[in-house]
Amino acid sequence: MKISEHFTLEELSFSEAAARLGLDNTPIPIVITHLGLVATVMERIRTLLGDRPIIVHSGYRSAAVNHAVGGVTTSAHCRGLACDFVCSAFGTPAEVALAILKSDIEYDQLILEYGWVHVGLAQDGLLSRREALTKRSPGAAYESGIRA
Ligand SMILES: [Zn+2]
Repeated sequence: MKISEHFTLEELSFSEAAARLGLDNTPIPIVITHLGLVATVMERIRTLLGDRPIIVHSGYRSAAVNHAVGGVTTSAHCRGLACDFVCSAFGTPAEVALAILKSDIEYDQLILEYGWVHVGLAQDGLLSRREALTKRSPGAAYESGIRA
């Protein structure tokens, strides 16, 4: 089901880990609403990146899936408020993250991770922190800023 011009509910709630481990990752209604907000921001990012295709690695993660992938329990992914993605037709994850950093696109957290970019949105009623971080490996601490 399309939730914006270029993004579907299925791709924003698909989990490779859920499929592999047989875990339920069906979004509840509030999560579907949140994924709609994510899709709106992702459309803006897609336009920013020259209308090039975006590959979503991870969007919504149920608590069980998040636990299985070792995600932090406060992860915006669990509320359907985050998207991990690449846009290799535009550039490396670092180049994508820097382009978003320089734009006026509103996000709560922008994280350059090891192999993809994470964009997280604020919960309803909370102001976006517009925080930019870099995480170089699964066990590494978050560094401030986008560090290519
Ligand atoms: Zn993420």
